[in-house]
Amino acid sequence: MSDLNIGVLGAGVIGLTTAFELKKKFRNANIDVISHQFNDKTTSYVAAGLFRPGTSFSGPTVEITRQWINDSYHYWDNIWNTPEASTAGVAQVSGYIFSSQYPNIVKNDYLDKLLPIYRRATEDELQLCPGTWKYGCFFTTVLTQCSYYLPWITSKLQRDGVHILSQKIESFAQLDKKYDIILNCTGLGAKFLCNDNKLVPMRGQVLKVRAPWIKTFFYGDYDTYVIPGIDCVTLGGCRQYDSYNLEVNKYDGLSIKERCESLVPSLRGAELIAEKVGLRPHRDVVRVEKEIQVINGRKVKIVHNYGHGGYGVTTAPGTSLYAVKLATELLSGNSKL
Ligand SMILES: Cc1cc2nc3c(=O)[nH]c(=O)nc-3n(C[C@H](O)[C@H](O)[C@H](O)COP(=O)(O)OP(=O)(O)OC[C@H]3O[C@@H](n4cnc5c(N)ncnc54)[C@H](O)[C@@H]3O)c2cc1C
Repeated sequence: MSDLNIGVLGAGVIGLTTAFELKKKFRNANIDVISHQFNDKTTSYVAAGLFRPGTSFSGPTVEITRQWINDSYHYWDNIWNTPEASTAGVAQVSGYIFSSQYPNIVKNDYLDKLLPIYRRATEDELQLCPGTWKYGCFFTTVLTQCSYYLPWITSKLQRDGVHILSQKIESFAQLDKKYDIILNCTGLGAKFLCNDNKLVPMRGQVLKVRAPWIKTFFYGDYDTYVIPGIDCVTLGGCRQYDSYNLEVNKYDGLSIKERCESLVPSLRGAELIAEKVGLRPHRDVVRVEKEIQVINGRKVKIVHNYGHGGYGVTTAPGTSLYAVKLATELLSGNSKL
């Protein structure tokens, strides 16, 4: 199996986690991660990284979606239970989701059955934040800050002999002779690489502030969130469908600041560290699929793993494991296996 060559496109949370799972499965394979952007230039870097799959997150079936979510939680929770947790950027965090309008939006069936603590907020807890909160839930989950996780997993991969290459790929034809299989983890880049019209950017902007006294996360009706990470608190947010604008918008920033300070007034003393924008790769359904393309008369094996929207950090491990399973199926007729 030592002459099996695998190319992973993309160095966000999906590409690097996929490469990691591939290396576990195919110990002796030659694996390259090929990407045109890394670390702070990726969407993954912008995310707060809270483990909270939303109801808009969808795989091909409910069973597969649940399997992705469960596998993902166990991956993050395992890291959290090792001495490497803080270097990997993985922490445990608890907090509240409040709604002023609907009881259903504070219920999450996936989390209810998975997390160690998941319950309705009490009447007293509904008074914790200013506002007219009628419904709420409290839960304990994990969080992964990608400014730590991406470099941590990259150095693990490099120690295991995975090559990290900087290159923009314009078409799969560029790679057809070099690799036995290609894992396509290009996030929003897949829109152009695969001509995939179902993939749409969902623009988000966040403020990163220093507020070490904030230990609990708070969501107000999902529009507004305050999420403490490893070394900063993420304040959000916005979801702008079909916007490709990567510039910080002054008015979005002001609105986020005002809404978060209304929800958690002590944030008025917080120091602004950075303002960031990212384009969530939204796709209904998330595409984790195998495909054989005929390029220049050759059959090229591809497994796609993209379109995770606002939940890519949450679900990277489960979808990556599934992508590796599909890759194994595609390669099963391969004499190198
Ligand atoms: C404001 C905001 C808050 C968020 N909060 C959370 C959260 O709390 N929890 C959560 O789970 N998720 C969150 N997300 C969503 C999460 O960030 C994304 O789902 C995730 O980052 C997608 O990862 P990815 O690896 O697919 O994409 P990316 O991180 O964008 O990586 C794609 C990679 O592919 C490479 N690439 C693309 N095209 C090509 C090409 N043609 N050739 C070579 N390389 C290419 C890029 O250079 C990049 O390295 C948030 C997102 C935003 C914007």
